[in-house]
This record gives sequence, C-alpha cells and structure tokens, in this order.
Amino acid sequence: MFDMKRSRIKELFLSQPIGTDVKICGWVRTVRSNKNVSFININDGSCVENMQVVLSPDHADYKLLCDIHTGTCVSIEGKIIESQGSGQSIELLPEKLMILGKADPQLYPLQPKEHSLEFLREVAHLRMRTSTFGAIMRLRHAMAYAIHKFFNDRGFFYLHTPIITGSDAEGAGAMFRVTTLDFNNLPLNEDKTVNFKEDFFGKETHLTVSGQLEGELGAMSLGQIYTFGPTFRAENSNTTRHLAEFWMIEPEVAFNELQENMDLAEEFLKYLIQYALDNCSSDLNFLNARFIKENEKKKQEERDEMNLLQKLEFVVSHPFERLTYTDAIEILKSSAPYKKKKFQYPVEWGVDLQSEHERYLVEKHFKKPVILTDYPKAIKAFYMKQSDDGKTVKAMDVLFPGIGEIIGGSQREDDIEKLKTRAREVGIKDEDIWWYLDIRRFGNAPHSGFGLGFERLMLFVTGMSNIRDVIPFPRTPKYAEF
Ligand code: ATP
Ligand code: MN
Repeated sequence: MFDMKRSRIKELFLSQPIGTDVKICGWVRTVRSNKNVSFININDGSCVENMQVVLSPDHADYKLLCDIHTGTCVSIEGKIIESQGSGQSIELLPEKLMILGKADPQLYPLQPKEHSLEFLREVAHLRMRTSTFGAIMRLRHAMAYAIHKFFNDRGFFYLHTPIITGSDAEGAGAMFRVTTLDFNNLPLNEDKTVNFKEDFFGKETHLTVSGQLEGELGAMSLGQIYTFGPTFRAENSNTTRHLAEFWMIEPEVAFNELQENMDLAEEFLKYLIQYALDNCSSDLNFLNARFIKENEKKKQEERDEMNLLQKLEFVVSHPFERLTYTDAIEILKSSAPYKKKKFQYPVEWGVDLQSEHERYLVEKHFKKPVILTDYPKAIKAFYMKQSDDGKTVKAMDVLFPGIGEIIGGSQREDDIEKLKTRAREVGIKDEDIWWYLDIRRFGNAPHSGFGLGFERLMLFVTGMSNIRDVIPFPRTPKYAEF
C-alpha cells in the first residue's frame, strides 16, 4: 500500500477500478463539509473531471481538513468505490491523506467561484489550475500533436527554420531587433549611424516573422516540408487576434500550384478539427457548455446560432467556399452594410480587406469558411506568383467565422526576373535575398505553401474570443509578465 504508484485521475475514470487501492496526487478544487461527511474534489491536470474524495469525521486524518482548501496540493491513498452521489461514476474512500503543499485561503488568488478572464490573465501563473484553462491547454497539446501527425502521415518533413533571422526581407510585419550591443556605448560609423559590424552576428538581426523563405529552400530539396515554431511581430496592434509572439505552422510543397495549395489547407484544417472532436471530447464538452453560457449573455443580434460543437461539426462537413478577391469585392459592394454605410473601411477594388469585410463574407453571406484567391498584387508580398492579367497574384487567404484570416498563403513566384523586379519595387535588394533567388536559378519548379496561425486555430477550436486566452503566457504590447 505504501510507496504506491500514483494513478492519474483520467486513467481511473477510464478503467473504473472499483474495489482497488490507488494513490492520487493533485490540487484541491473545492471542499464541502456537513456534520456527517466532507467532500474534497481533486484535480491532477490529466483531465477536466475531478476525483471526489469522501472523508468522514471519524477518519484518522480528519484533523488535516483544517489545512485543506482550494489550491492545496494533496496525496491520497484509498479505495475506488462506486459513487453514492449523482455527479460522478466513481469516488475515492481515503485510507491515508497527506498534504504536500498548503495554500493559504487568505492569499491564494483562485476561489471556488467563477473568475473573469481578465482577472485570470493577471494570475496566468495559476490560471491553468482552472477547468477552463486546463481544458484549453490540453486541447492545445492535442492540436500540436495532430499537426505533426497530419504531416508525418503524408510524408512531410519537419524543418527547423531559424528564429534569429539576418534578412529583413520577409515583409510580413514589424520585427524585434536581436542585438548584444551596449545601448549606452554604441559603436558608430563616421556618419553617426550604428555600426552593426560590431554586433554579435556582424550584421543587423531580428526575430523571425515567418519561416517561409527558408521553408521554400527545404521544399525545393526535400519535396514537402512544414515548419512549426515561434513567430514574432512587433506590430503595435492590441486586438483580440494578434500576439507579439505566436506559433505558426508553414507547409511548403514543391510542384503544388494554387489549387493543390487550397486543397491542402482545407484538408489540414478539417483534419485538425475532426481530431479534436474524436480525441478531446470531455474537454470540448466542457468548453461547449461554457460557450453556450457565454453566448446566452450576449445581445440577441450578436449571438451565435450554433454552439461550439455544432460549429466544429459544421466546418468538417461542408466544403469551404472558394472565390476570387474580385468577386468578393462585388459581393461586398452589393451588401446591406455597404449600402447602409455600416462598414468603417472603404470597399474598392485594390483595398486590403479589413476584418469587418472578411467576417461579413464568412458569417453573413456564405455562412461557412471561405478561401479568397487572386488578390491585387500591390497589397500582397513580393514573392507571390503574378498572374497573366498583370494585376493579381496567386494568393489565398482562408477566412473563418468569428476570426477572419486564419491562413494566408500563395503559389510562389518562380520567374526570377519577375521576382527580382517585384522585390526591388518594395525595396529589397538582390543581395539581401541572393540565396532565395538561387532557388529560381538552380532546379526551379512551381511550389506553394501557407501559414496557419496556431493561436487563431485554437480560438476556433476552443470557442474562446481573446487570443490571450489560448496561449499559456501571452506576449502583447507593454506586456511580458511571467
Ligand atoms: P492579419 O492580417 O490577421 O494581421 P497577416 O496577414 O499579417 O494577418 P500572415 O503574415 O499572412 O498574417 O501570417 C499567416 C498567419 O499567421 C495568419 O493567417 C494568422 O493566422 C497568423 N498571424 C499573423 N499575425 C499574427 C499575430 N500577430 N498573432 C497571432 N497570429 C497571427
Ligand atoms: Mn495574411
């Protein structure tokens, strides 16, 4: 009985070993007592369910109860019995109870009541101990695993592209500088500019905004690769969909053209959502109940027609709508909000679509995920393949309900002259991307890829509405605590 191996609560609920002696370790969620009995609910992080421990006043360890509060860490050995109550299938009759770590109820920030998400962000070091954040983090893990499984099963290779980049040509957003220079004693050139030759790498370096350019080198060698790593953007955009540090998945495939790129993106997203439905049902059910409760609090016109599970089921069972940017502009121009001047931003061929436009198309017009293609070349990156019309590029954005853009991708320009010209137009010198150009010089082929924002996916799968709540420790402007 002593030195027993610890069981995880998830396994106990699965195997239901009624009559066996087990040991569990975990954190107390709630304690309820009356004069006949005390119920201690324990969670060990393995699943959203708690194990109920039933302690009677004549138990030898009953005196420990005065130190058992929400947050206390305990180790309990005892017998699994069929539950007498209705809330759970099994419960634990303790034989030996030990306190591993006290939590002073006067000081412990989490109480056995509902806390606001805003408050929980301030105690992000403890919020994973709540049911909501436990469920989100387990789902995050499951999605990361499913991403690797999806690509591995299809013969893609996981390519580790650099986090520190020496090229500022990616053009995907403002970058964070990486330097070891002493700001109080900067080495200067004669013209008073900073001499980066003295810096660690002998040149200016930054944190990557995308692994794509290096990913293309991998695809043009290994055939099909994906990256999955941290990505940094120093944009000062305090929205519910942007982080300064986020995770991005970027597949890149040699010989794929735009059509196959869209097919891959749609298959990928559906696979991930189906994986969550098949493998994470108890966490999803918990989040679904939460979603329904939150939805009911909203004003009638802002309410979702579907609950979280229905939304996930809907996406996996319907084809995404595919249309060109040009057609989307036509739809927007004949829309009610456009005619009633309800859009904040202009709608005109050539403008970058704002999230209000993307969400109108997805949520009001098509009522399903949309893939927009063939954007004006002026609003897209220099590396996207130019179409014969001279105006558009073979770009594709996947737009999701409640989120807007979840994936951005394209077929890549494989005509070296067009690529050079376009790069120069946006201020990138040939010598900055000499290695990128080399791929078009030696053994060139069509190729395509895209980037999926991991946290945008997590927003959709969990039904949460703020991106700060789907990453353990968010990094946003003026905020890098924990
Ligand atoms: P947006 O227009 O929404 O700011 P973007 O067009 O700048 O995004 P891309 O450069 O196309 O983004 O990046 C690919 C994907 O990475 C996006 O589709 C999105 O899912 C995700 N992403 C981009 N920026 C962020 C960010 N700051 N925080 C979290 N995810 C992001
Ligand atoms: Mn994009």
